[in-house]
Amino acid sequence: MYLIINCHTCGKVIMASTANRTQSCTHCGAKIEVRSAKVLARSRTTQEAVAIIQELKQRKSKDSPVTFKKFRV
Ligand SMILES: [Zn+2]
Repeated sequence: MYLIINCHTCGKVIMASTANRTQSCTHCGAKIEVRSAKVLARSRTTQEAVAIIQELKQRKSKDSPVTFKKFRV
């Protein structure tokens, strides 16, 4: 199983295998303890995990402060 987690150092979304206790961030190299990380999503395959990460990235860029304000008002 794969977990989609947030890097606590750089805040980027990364993929971690549940087989590993720690995972190095592919962006900043920080070591992340998989169990204590904030899990955004889970997936069974690498391909699925990559797709989820891409979707999360797109969602993040769409959620601009302006759009957010529009929804609240
Ligand atoms: Zn990082």
